[in-house]
Amino acid sequence: MRRHEPEQTASHLDVAKLAAEGASLNGQWAVADLPRWHAAQTSTIAPDAAAVRWQVDGETRRVAGQAPQIWLRLQAQAQAGLTCQRCLQPFGPLLQVDRWVRFVAGEQEAEALDADSDDDVLALEPALDLRILVEDELLLACPIVPRHDDCRPPAHRAGDEAEAAADNPFAALAALKAGPAQH
Ligand SMILES: [Zn+2]
Repeated sequence: MRRHEPEQTASHLDVAKLAAEGASLNGQWAVADLPRWHAAQTSTIAPDAAAVRWQVDGETRRVAGQAPQIWLRLQAQAQAGLTCQRCLQPFGPLLQVDRWVRFVAGEQEAEALDADSDDDVLALEPALDLRILVEDELLLACPIVPRHDDCRPPAHRAGDEAEAAADNPFAALAALKAGPAQH
């Protein structure tokens, strides 16, 4: 065992090490820490609700006849500040991401495997910036056309949105997996 190893941080994550140790890391960021996610917000929501919460779990999977595989489970949760395209009022769906990402050595192998796998496959790097990965996933989870289920006046709406988000937090992700996005 080496000593004095740098501590794992979200902006310098050693995925291979996390997977080898079966370790986890979690935390939360302010929206302002994620520039692309910040730019995608079109309405203001309560600052507390706007925090992006995340957790990663490393895992080594042993496959007969092959080198052990490096996997990362990525979970993130954030309330988006969007604008309803029907009534143009703020729309704040709760987005939840729960993805397994496999890491392999080299871009070429990653691209080849990613093409015929349902899972995300990325090239392993010594220090992954987790913020970029979480931003990517949150942007993908955002509805392409943000819209209330029911555009009633705000006084009647608050409770309904929380319920709708709880009912089907993975709707956006499921729609993505089902086929190409329709713009
Ligand atoms: Zn609306």
